[in-house]
Amino acid sequence: MVNMSRKNVVVMGLGHFGGGIGAARWYASQGHRVTVTDQQPGEKLTGSIARLSGLPIEYSLGGHDEQILNDCDLLVVSPAVDKGRSAFFQAAMARNIPYTTEINEFCRLCPAPIIGVTGSAGKSTTASMIHAALAAIVGDDRCCLGGNIGQSLLGQLPVIHPDHLVVLELSSFMLEDMPLIKFSPHVAVATNLVDNHLDRHGTMAAYAAAKINILRFQTPTDFAVLNRNDPHVSQWGAHTKGRVLYFDLARINLRSPGQHNQANAAAALAVVEALGFADRISTAERVLENFRSLPHRMELVGQSKNYLGQNVDWINDSKATTPESTLTALHAVPPGRAVVIVGGADKHADMSVLAEKLVELSWGIITMGATGAKIAQAVKQCLDKRPDDFNTRVRPRLSEVKTLEEAVQQSQFWLTTTPPGGAAAGISAPSCILLSPACASYDQFINYEQRGAVFKEQVAKVLPPAPIT
Ligand code: ADP
Repeated sequence: MVNMSRKNVVVMGLGHFGGGIGAARWYASQGHRVTVTDQQPGEKLTGSIARLSGLPIEYSLGGHDEQILNDCDLLVVSPAVDKGRSAFFQAAMARNIPYTTEINEFCRLCPAPIIGVTGSAGKSTTASMIHAALAAIVGDDRCCLGGNIGQSLLGQLPVIHPDHLVVLELSSFMLEDMPLIKFSPHVAVATNLVDNHLDRHGTMAAYAAAKINILRFQTPTDFAVLNRNDPHVSQWGAHTKGRVLYFDLARINLRSPGQHNQANAAAALAVVEALGFADRISTAERVLENFRSLPHRMELVGQSKNYLGQNVDWINDSKATTPESTLTALHAVPPGRAVVIVGGADKHADMSVLAEKLVELSWGIITMGATGAKIAQAVKQCLDKRPDDFNTRVRPRLSEVKTLEEAVQQSQFWLTTTPPGGAAAGISAPSCILLSPACASYDQFINYEQRGAVFKEQVAKVLPPAPIT
């Protein structure tokens, strides 16, 4: 193909999650000359580079060489790049090189209505619930899901038609650049807002402003779907010209545990309504009732019995990398019945509130990894402060281990060994083993996905094989 407007495009940030790969592939397929640059060296990017094999793409890896800006016509920046602090990005701006992002390019060209989902927590789950509900209503082949959830939809543009529906998970880093194309989705969903990523956005106000871009360019025919119970998001109606629908909690029986999932399902139902499918709400409800949690988010990975012969669920919540997410998980499991495995890389988060809630709500606590000792210390302080007033419950046990493998073995030991007096009526036995680390994973793992995979592997080793019902 001879492309008369052939440009030199530099894709900054290849990464592992699909955005950079999708952008490089897209610009190459449009006949442009693409150079990919990434901070990481080639050895660390082999998987991503393999996905681009055969395409005429040049690489400048292991850092960002400003030489490649010499003949650059367009810079495509990954949402992972901290633009304010990147010398390379600043150099491109100093040379007046225009920039865009993978998601902007998709939104600019997408012929179908877009349903965008943002928030501090619950984005992936809510976006997946919306996608599942819409797929059941309009058909799988007329719906797609992408954005921050890990796949670029640029390559699918040729097969996306105006009567399709596109669901995008949008992070604050993606939304930050959306004003460049003056775009907001036809339906914009906001789940909640808590302090997050302030290292990059600087202030809560700047973080909120980035998220609010999801509403800023809406028109009167668009919809904002906002969480009525979130103190920030519930006030965002003023930022849209579209119609505002508030959601609360879905009053349906969900397989996915926790009140937070009731909120996510309610958001999905509101989207179904906004899109004019109110008469299909019951179809959407059935789909949401059966919706299984996404991998590593309160994911049921095994079932067994405790020493009283009662059912036990093994739950992988490896995605919980902050104390707040573990608190959410603690509220989604039966009080006083869970063995909770916590600990991981140290991000210097305050663990005192988490320790209090662990002592209040769990049957047993297992600490592991780099922060294990710190969390155990905080738990011991709470245990010391608390008199023996646990009524029908016993005080939560505490065990300190090094690895996830040992944590699974300790859990299995607690499950299968009747403690002294433990068979007496009224004394509860654990009904759930919950990996919800409250910490990042990189002390012992590459990422939270690998941590979750190791948990599943270890659980499979100690459990008799049985299907999950
Ligand atoms: P995100 O994509 O925003 O990171 P996920 O859907 O992947 O969110 O969920 C990550 C974790 O956040 C879940 O395991 C759960 O603990 C918590 N979570 C999910 N939905 C909500 C919600 N609506 N409110 C608060 N916490 C939530």
